[in-house]
Amino acid sequence: MDCIFCKIVAGEIPSAKVYEDDTVVAFNDLEPQAPVHVLIIPKQHIASMAEIDERNSAVVAHIFEVAAIIAKEKGLDDGFRVVSNCGESAGQSVKHLHFHLMGGREFGWPAG
Ligand code: AMP
Repeated sequence: MDCIFCKIVAGEIPSAKVYEDDTVVAFNDLEPQAPVHVLIIPKQHIASMAEIDERNSAVVAHIFEVAAIIAKEKGLDDGFRVVSNCGESAGQSVKHLHFHLMGGREFGWPAG
């Protein structure tokens, strides 16, 4: 499968990893939109949030546990944002489920 994030999981493409365990990996975004911008992904290929169901939802819960760990490690005590773009109109450009963990600046709402 020609998936850039599967290649990062496999170590075929370099990444700046900040966390890894049996089921997920987290690495710095190549084009950070905030002082802290980490992508947290499942090692298993899941195309997007639209493919989450009762068989694979445990990994999403785990990703949120990892997000809290990384946010603490990065000192994001004032707050942070976690976003998953799903599908074309939401701006998803990589078709492997990922959550953007961003912090270190103020964020507007609603997101544009
Ligand atoms: P999205 O547009 O929500 O699908 O997010 C994809 C994100 O992946 C973007 O923020 C990109 O900057 C980021 N990205 C793409 N390729 C890489 C890579 N090789 N290493 C780190 N981040 C990447």
